[in-house]
Amino acid sequence: MYEKDFPILKQKVNRKRLIYLDNAATSQKPSQVIQAMNDFYEKDNANVHRGLHELSMRSSFAYEKAHEIVGNFINASEEEIIFTKGTTESLNLLAYTLTKSLKKGDEIILTEMEHHSNIVPWTELAKEKGIKIKVIPLKDYQLDLKKFKLLLTKKTKIVSLTHISNVLGTINPIKEIIKISHKYKALVIIDAAQSISHMKIDVKELDCDFLAFSGHKMFGPTGIGVLYGKKKLLEKLPPFQFGGGMIKEVSFNKTTFNDLPWKFEAGTPNIAEAIGLVKAIEYINKIGLENIQAHNQELTNYAIERLSKIKDLKIIGPKDNQLGVISFYIKDIHPHDVSEFLNGEGIAIRSGNHCAMPLMNILKIQGTNRISLQIYNTTKDIDALIIALNKVKEIFNGWRRRNLQRKHIGSL
Ligand code: PMP
Repeated sequence: MYEKDFPILKQKVNRKRLIYLDNAATSQKPSQVIQAMNDFYEKDNANVHRGLHELSMRSSFAYEKAHEIVGNFINASEEEIIFTKGTTESLNLLAYTLTKSLKKGDEIILTEMEHHSNIVPWTELAKEKGIKIKVIPLKDYQLDLKKFKLLLTKKTKIVSLTHISNVLGTINPIKEIIKISHKYKALVIIDAAQSISHMKIDVKELDCDFLAFSGHKMFGPTGIGVLYGKKKLLEKLPPFQFGGGMIKEVSFNKTTFNDLPWKFEAGTPNIAEAIGLVKAIEYINKIGLENIQAHNQELTNYAIERLSKIKDLKIIGPKDNQLGVISFYIKDIHPHDVSEFLNGEGIAIRSGNHCAMPLMNILKIQGTNRISLQIYNTTKDIDALIIALNKVKEIFNGWRRRNLQRKHIGSL
């Protein structure tokens, strides 16, 4: 029903209808997002905050308004919305600015299911400062909350974790984790890269301290992401980058910084992308996040049920607490071979470690195949996937049988 809103989905790939099941990597863009960005460049393009001419006023207004609209989307104020390049930059901003006030022996808690972008910024900076990194282990593909509670100490300053795993699809109980962490006065950062387009997020209700997400995973353009932070915390943090836009006054002796959110937005921002993101939010609001979640949950359950019936296919995920993302592997077939074969059938899925090497090592696997779903996917897409996966199995089993026969004949 929604596929008609996405021009890219009208094409054929390898002479087959394109079935796009790689939404955790990036989602497709509806016409209104593409059109709005095009319109901006055709009609309003100018730099923001700097000119008093008509075009600059138009682009400044649209860019400033974008903060307000994104704020409304997650129940935050416009001052609490910082535009970044994406989740990765949002998390780097936090790692650089928050660790400045930490000292040797302080502790940061992550989880075994984090994306590299919520591991490497912390581990690299922790090394420099002698900060200890602790990791919440998994039990049955979910966070082990009992063990989490044992990790918390008075030295825990930050707990940073993903809302939905980009590998396992697990929905983490973030509200509970935030509440427990706050008892220890630890700040909680939520990586909402995978959840933002699947679930309604209300930062006030969650009481998270920071939240990071990317525009391109929620029907918006690449190059724009969001960092939400509680106003009182953002006010205390030092700037991340220095330059134009983030200052009030500059001399060679002293610089004073701009108000929020501009203090964290140095240089010319991604204006067209912010405008595209606004259109993506309008698109989501028109459908309703509850409806998107219901559709994606139903489709996730349908896919899990159908995949579970394929012999020798193992799903890597909790199954009953999973949304939008399903990882699996087929015994004795390399995930890249599966993806390559599916590409020939017009089906786009992901294979590999999904930027989660620590998780792969813990699970003792090299990689998985991953399908990830969105509003334009249907049961018809899943049915086509199941047929294609059965074909892969048939072909690989056929090869294997022939190879065995050849070996047998050779040894006669
Ligand atoms: N965290 C998670 C859970 C992700 O899935 C991703 C993207 N795969 C990121 C962070 C990084 O997002 P980006 O590449 O848009 O910065």
